[in-house]
Amino acid sequence: RESIGKLPRYPGLERWTLLEKMGDGAFSNVYRAVDATGHGPEVAIKVVRKFEMNSTQRANILKEVQIMRQIDHPNIVKLIDFSESRQYYYIVLELCPGGELFHQIVRLTYFSEDLSRHVIVQVAEALEYLHETAGVVHRDIKPENLLFYPSAFIPTRNPKPRSAEDEDKEDEGEFIKGVGSGGIGTIKIADFGLSKIIWDSQTMTPCGTVGYTAPEIVKDERYSKSVDMWALGCVLYTLLCGFPPFYDESIQVLTEKVARGQYTFLSPWWDDISKPAQDLVSHLLTVDPDKRYNIQQFLNHPWIRETREETYAAA
Ligand code: ADP
Ligand code: MG
Repeated sequence: RESIGKLPRYPGLERWTLLEKMGDGAFSNVYRAVDATGHGPEVAIKVVRKFEMNSTQRANILKEVQIMRQIDHPNIVKLIDFSESRQYYYIVLELCPGGELFHQIVRLTYFSEDLSRHVIVQVAEALEYLHETAGVVHRDIKPENLLFYPSAFIPTRNPKPRSAEDEDKEDEGEFIKGVGSGGIGTIKIADFGLSKIIWDSQTMTPCGTVGYTAPEIVKDERYSKSVDMWALGCVLYTLLCGFPPFYDESIQVLTEKVARGQYTFLSPWWDDISKPAQDLVSHLLTVDPDKRYNIQQFLNHPWIRETREETYAAA
């Protein structure tokens, strides 16, 4: 992370004092920042380099902001403000001090079933809201876009030890400033850069005049939600074992594997993971979108439902 001295100054962003760089993307840098008075809560500011973008890419940023404006859910990063200068867009967001879930997977190697459930239920609650209330598909669900607001305690080692040697070690854990206790904290979905509105949120009807909509469009809209469900399956798989369901060094081979839904519950990593957990993953990583679980089927699955109350109590 960069030190304060190296941080750039942006025209039109004088209201905020940048504190550190938190992340970056293709056209953006994300900073932790605070109100220039030093008061008020810290925020995240996504500074997008408008001057490097073509008109379609610029339109997509405006669409991202437009969609975020309509969204209000505890498990989705909130938009606080949006402004622009000649060269930049400034997207001021609710700060997620814990950073990316991706880094936690790397740090812990993999999550216990309880911790995985605790995380995935929160992602699913956000998706339920997006799909059924806001009429939005995210289309870019992945560990890098899942951020979190940490609870006080994050275990450094899993409850389930990997080796006999591990068994003897005390879980020292790590205290991170934040709120709440247990679990990992509050998970929040970020990055609506690829998101799309599929239903009119006011009327709960499809956008446009349905009567004249071509079948492939109607079909497309129907399938768009299932894209998020596939991704949810990939995230759950990764949480449970620590590596993604589909991987190959060759993009061509990888694409082929995904197209065929070619994945396995690889031994020995999956040997001790419960059958209900595997069952749920397999209903998400189903190639036929008509057979793939939707968000309600996901939330009603025994692996989720049977322990949902406990998960809530712990969170
Ligand atoms: P991109 O579209 O370029 O991927 P993102 O919105 O995903 O942009 O932001 C890039 C990275 O910046 C994220 O993966 C994360 O590490 C960090 N980041 C984004 N928003 C926040 C936030 N609200 N709080 C903390 N970190 C954030
Ligand atoms: Mg991203």
